[in-house]
Amino acid sequence: MNQTEPPPGGAVEPDLAQAAPRRWARPEMRFVGTGVSSGIAIGQAFGVREQPATVTRLRIAAADIEAELARLEAAVKQSLKQLGKLRQKLHVLPEEAQTEIEPLITAYIHMLGPTRLMRGIRHRVRETLVSAETAVVEETEATATQMLALPIGVTEEDRASRDRRAEEVREIGRRLIRNLTRTAFRSFADLPDGAVVVADALRPADAALLNPERVAGVATEEGGTTGHTAIMLRSLGLPTVLGAIGLSHKIGPGDTIVVDGTTGIVVLNPTQATLSRARADQLAFAESRNRLAGLLRLPAETTDGTAIALHANLELLAELPMLGQVGAEGIGLLRTEFVFMNREAPPDEAMQAEIYHQVIAAAGGGPVTIRVLDWGGEKDIEALSNAGLVPELNDVNPALGLRGIRLLLRRPTLLETQFSAILRAAVGTDSDLRILIPMVTCLDEVRQARAIYDRVIRRLTREGVRLPGRLPLFGVMIETPGAALSADGLATACDFFALGTNDLTMYTLAVDRADGGVGSLFDPLHPAVLRLIQFSLEAASRHQRPVSVCGEIAGDPAFTALLLGLGVRTLSMNAVNVPRVKQTVRAVSLAACGDLARRAMAESDPDTVRAQVVAFARMHGLPEPAMPAL
Ligand code: PEP
Ligand code: MG
Repeated sequence: MNQTEPPPGGAVEPDLAQAAPRRWARPEMRFVGTGVSSGIAIGQAFGVREQPATVTRLRIAAADIEAELARLEAAVKQSLKQLGKLRQKLHVLPEEAQTEIEPLITAYIHMLGPTRLMRGIRHRVRETLVSAETAVVEETEATATQMLALPIGVTEEDRASRDRRAEEVREIGRRLIRNLTRTAFRSFADLPDGAVVVADALRPADAALLNPERVAGVATEEGGTTGHTAIMLRSLGLPTVLGAIGLSHKIGPGDTIVVDGTTGIVVLNPTQATLSRARADQLAFAESRNRLAGLLRLPAETTDGTAIALHANLELLAELPMLGQVGAEGIGLLRTEFVFMNREAPPDEAMQAEIYHQVIAAAGGGPVTIRVLDWGGEKDIEALSNAGLVPELNDVNPALGLRGIRLLLRRPTLLETQFSAILRAAVGTDSDLRILIPMVTCLDEVRQARAIYDRVIRRLTREGVRLPGRLPLFGVMIETPGAALSADGLATACDFFALGTNDLTMYTLAVDRADGGVGSLFDPLHPAVLRLIQFSLEAASRHQRPVSVCGEIAGDPAFTALLLGLGVRTLSMNAVNVPRVKQTVRAVSLAACGDLARRAMAESDPDTVRAQVVAFARMHGLPEPAMPAL
């Protein structure tokens, strides 16, 4: 059995949500988080709970004892980390709730220490040769049952206290099991129609399971604007607020909730007046979307006649119909992680080829850029762990670990299968297909990946497999400072660049993109980031390599003028943002954008750059850049 880092951000905490007294849940309550996907959702709040993990009794060989104990220790460590995080968040709760929950967390932490319970679990693994999960279930159940075996003459108070302690033991068992089995949320099935999902945190894999037809919106306590969960929720068009601290502990059955993904405000149990305002805002939002739809047939062209290519980033197959609806000319980034998510085992070549083929066909001959698997960071994928393809523990600093191309070069079969599937998918489509390599930091990685690509082409030719008439171009993501600063060299080994400004900002400023706690430091307008962008664009131009920007700023109209001024002519973004960006492109001249970029690049203070971009936006009646999330 395999053990890796459990779901980032930890699991939803159903125990504490229930422990919080309900008496303050009725009056209207406001929470301020970060709006990461615009629109207004009004619906019934639905607290996402994990499904209880089911464990079948599993025996192990004597030779596996140490490995099993190591898995157990990793789960204990992870549980302690989650509980520590929870404790840090307590101060935002009303005092009453704090007094109730604090001792509970302390009890959980204590139980994971050198207690009889933990000794019992380890003893079972060692002596009865069972898996860690089995040992946890059996020992916690035995302990709880013992606690509940009441001696004669016990008082009511005693009985209640024993009940509570037994439940605490069972709960710590459930937490260990979740961390051992890496159980994902799969409880969306019983979601009432039109519900608003409320959770402590959602992983990208959980977001991929949400059906936008049935879900109205999302609000969570954790997560950053540029994290992958936020990106997915934007791509699903779900109004979303992340970082609404304290929310998930306060919702109760039947509570109505308003989530304003534009302002970041969440209102629980809104009054009639709040509800009517929210409905009016909802209507205004829909009307502005409809007005933008009028741009569909108009070209994305600046006022001085330069055409800008607007492509869509795709994270899920469910987004394919959006391409035509918003007028995206192609797919600038297909994040293939979704192909691997929410499966027991990695998809084989045929299954992958089938999925890529669907995407290529939906693009109707427009360019399609397929990025090979970018595992790591917050993108945790069970199928890869189950297959033993990813490291057992990646928790030192996952963003700096075996991410993207690094993993693929360690597991060349994964890469070969994906290259092969992409090539097969393109046969007979005459598509303008491109392959993209993520998380590159140096030339050697590109050379190695390209050698594997060439090897796959040779093998398929040898095997008599038909190849696409036009072989896909081979491109590199520029999303680390290392790649940006070696862009000249990288350009010699690839056919095009795609600038991933999400990771570029994260790695340049040392700010985790998924951590709302440092969201205020995540600033793509920081001159250091802009200089790396400029350097990469200049290298691309020197080597005549096409270049696009596919980070989140490509879909933010507040950045459009600056990017055009820096020389960008292809932008790839969440499909929903295409109309707004097109509107901006059509409102500016390249000359004015160039002037803005020249002035911005002369600055070394992010605030001055921001002020310039804001002034430009005001002068042209454009959206202004939001302040980085506070
Ligand atoms: C980026 O880092 O900007 C990017 C587009 O890749 P991802 O968001 O998938 O990491
Ligand atoms: Mg990236």
